[in-house]
Amino acid sequence: MEAELTKRKESFLYRELQKHDKIDCSPLAPSGMPCLRDEFDQREDFVFDLAENDADKWLSIRGEKLFNLSSNNYLGLSGDLRLVQAAADAAMRLGAGATASRLVSGNHVCYSELEEELARWKGREAALVFANGYMANLGVISALVGRGDAVFSDRLNHASIVDGIILSRADHYRYRHNDMDHLESLLKKHSGSKRRMLIVADAVFSMDGDSAPLRELVELRDRYHALLLVDEAHSGGVRGERGEGLCHEYGLHGRVDVIMGTFSKAFGVYGAYVCADEVLIRYLVNTARPLIYSTGLPPMVVASVQASLQIVQEEGWRRERLRRLGRWFRDQLRQAGLSVMEGDSPIVPWLIGSNDRALRISRALAERGISAVAIRPPTVPEGEARIRFSLMATHAKTELAGVLEQIREVAYAEQEAYR
Ligand code: PMP
Repeated sequence: MEAELTKRKESFLYRELQKHDKIDCSPLAPSGMPCLRDEFDQREDFVFDLAENDADKWLSIRGEKLFNLSSNNYLGLSGDLRLVQAAADAAMRLGAGATASRLVSGNHVCYSELEEELARWKGREAALVFANGYMANLGVISALVGRGDAVFSDRLNHASIVDGIILSRADHYRYRHNDMDHLESLLKKHSGSKRRMLIVADAVFSMDGDSAPLRELVELRDRYHALLLVDEAHSGGVRGERGEGLCHEYGLHGRVDVIMGTFSKAFGVYGAYVCADEVLIRYLVNTARPLIYSTGLPPMVVASVQASLQIVQEEGWRRERLRRLGRWFRDQLRQAGLSVMEGDSPIVPWLIGSNDRALRISRALAERGISAVAIRPPTVPEGEARIRFSLMATHAKTELAGVLEQIREVAYAEQEAYR
């Protein structure tokens, strides 16, 4: 009986696994190899040898040293010794973990210190720190809307937004990517019947590298009395005079109800935040389940984030460099005749189309010492597989010039082989 049950369970799991074999796990496979989650490539330790200058520009996978064009470490801070030292000092004082939810006995003073700094930086009344961006989106959306409400979400928004909407049980209306006419038609259609309406958009889209039309979003939010949540995961630290993000760069930060961002990308650490009016933040403290029912970030991580926040604000050269490199890199790819998607961010996608072709190109680049991921469905729509290059402020132009040479050769070889 037991054996029969085990067999049935196993056959179900194997059947499911076979399906997954066909889908994309590419973000976990820097070499661009198709992989199952139990086989994904392991990075080796030399990356963390911080004595080596700019160690985080490189990945080591299966003994190969690859130039890293596949991280979200946009400002090149993850290997910065100031962040590492801050974490080490805090760990020596406070230990390795927070030991409980903030609402139980885990509310270390470092959280509110960081939240005050964040609110000041963002020019908002208050801030709240979450364990990560995924949890922040889940927590905020499921707290702000519920059954009988409506969420209007860009079709290309991040999975954590989609999951937050599902968790909230609100009705989910997806508008075509950046299509404000479509969004308005949905708002118009549902404004009479819904209790509360929430519009959600990524400020910069993670797989396309383009940005949301924030001014129009704010106007629609005003016109239809909706709430607006903007996810600055890929623009926080990267845009704005002091890295505050795209809402700030456009002077709109006061007109967005909730601005969310993460510390795992430009900040080079881990964790996330939301900024809003004080009353909204107090409401979240009382209702956001991922905050209430989960242990807080380890204080040593918070200390590292605090060090990073200081650097993000003060070292504007990183942002300027990144912006210049991004524009130049995009231009160079275009001049080489490659189909590069529109945008002004460090995320530069080269649109390929077929999954196999994208994989082949990613593999060919890996063979030439470059890590650039092939992004495939379901992460992107069917027929829109692409190579996603992501740049870092610490990449040297000479290094990128070498990379461009390799990309041109790979593109040429691919064209010749499949004419
Ligand atoms: N939002 C967006 C737009 C993201 O790209 C990501 C991470 N890929 C997240 C949220 C989740 O952030 P985190 O990695 O901190 O959980």
